[in-house]
Amino acid sequence: MMNLYLNKGKEESLRRFHPWVFSGAVNHIEGKPTEGDLVRVLTAQGDFVAVGHWQIGSIAVRVLSFEEESIDKAFWVKRLQVAYDMRRAVGVADRKDNDIYRLVHGEGDNLPGLIVDMYGATAVMQAHSVGMHVCRMEIAEALKEVLGDALQNIYYKSETTLPFKAELGQENGFIMGSTPDNVATENGLRFYIDWLKGQKTGFFVDQRDSRSLLEQYSKDRKVLNMFCYTGGFSVYAMRGGAQLVHSVDSSQKAVDLVNENIRLNFPNDNRHEAFAEDAFKFLDSITIPYDLVILDPPAFAKHRDAIRHAIKGYTKLNAKAMEKIQSGGILFTFSCSQAITKEQFRMAVFTAAAITGRKVRILHQLHQPADHPINIYHPEGEYLKGLVLYVE
Ligand code: SAH
Repeated sequence: MMNLYLNKGKEESLRRFHPWVFSGAVNHIEGKPTEGDLVRVLTAQGDFVAVGHWQIGSIAVRVLSFEEESIDKAFWVKRLQVAYDMRRAVGVADRKDNDIYRLVHGEGDNLPGLIVDMYGATAVMQAHSVGMHVCRMEIAEALKEVLGDALQNIYYKSETTLPFKAELGQENGFIMGSTPDNVATENGLRFYIDWLKGQKTGFFVDQRDSRSLLEQYSKDRKVLNMFCYTGGFSVYAMRGGAQLVHSVDSSQKAVDLVNENIRLNFPNDNRHEAFAEDAFKFLDSITIPYDLVILDPPAFAKHRDAIRHAIKGYTKLNAKAMEKIQSGGILFTFSCSQAITKEQFRMAVFTAAAITGRKVRILHQLHQPADHPINIYHPEGEYLKGLVLYVE
């Protein structure tokens, strides 16, 4: 393993277990690592600080351990076991009526650069760093050891998440087993998971708790699910007894998916309809008095320099929804932009309320669920926030 020396004093945040070494903190490396290699991180004086994957870019090392230990199969087994035990402890794994959950959430599970989502007996694994890509087969073996018979297939889906400059020629595909069966269960509801072509790992696992809460508010309501993607919120609203459910997404593929998921759970039920349309245009032309509206748009700010523009986008979107929602309506509104803080998002929604002059109360403040944990030493891991509003 090559040694990487930090500039003087640059070990401070690492001593507080922050898992990244920024390139500006690096003094020099003994040898010539290639991206994805393991390095030992040392202070300017040569004292051991951490071991991690070296990468090209502003983050130079993603730390795997603050102890001097080998990064081998036993290491992955140990980390994955902790992650699995936690999922069982919070009640998302090992359940009959729920086999969709996130098993590994990167830094939140002390495995920077690695995502693993479980869909029944299939794990969808995603590497966000070359280091995790290099280790994928060892990690796959470790996953099998930890999950045993509960795991039959591993689909590796890193084509779009790895740095393209690394030129790995990466293709998506099964690296263990293989299955055409892609139906999995969340809280007793069934979903087709499109891990082959879908966004992220094929499903937005992170909205499980919000969807459950929405179900409780759905009885007899007229529901509008904007940015519906696979229609998770729509399916829960149907079970909750909604009078009608309309799903909107600009992508025709998403609309096809939501229709399939509704049919899978509620065949011959005509309360649902889906529209392939732009959300802003759809909101402008509303004539139906919706009284439960969901706004779950894609991340408006993917980088810090896009923050101001994104805040305006959230304000505009929320103002349009508040203008149209029935009196006594409930609005579920979200931001999944990591770069936007809770406070900034709340301010954007506040501005929307002020512009429209509606009386608005906050009923719930939502965030990412327990299987998307935030490492307390890595607050950057917090990304999903939501507000449930009562609009008078
Ligand atoms: N609520 C979903 C996840 C939403 S992901 C769930 O629970 O699974 C964001 C979705 O917004 C994507 O499916 C994308 O196709 C859609 N989208 C992006 N821009 C849009 C626009 N301008 N109008 C409508 N839909 C849009």
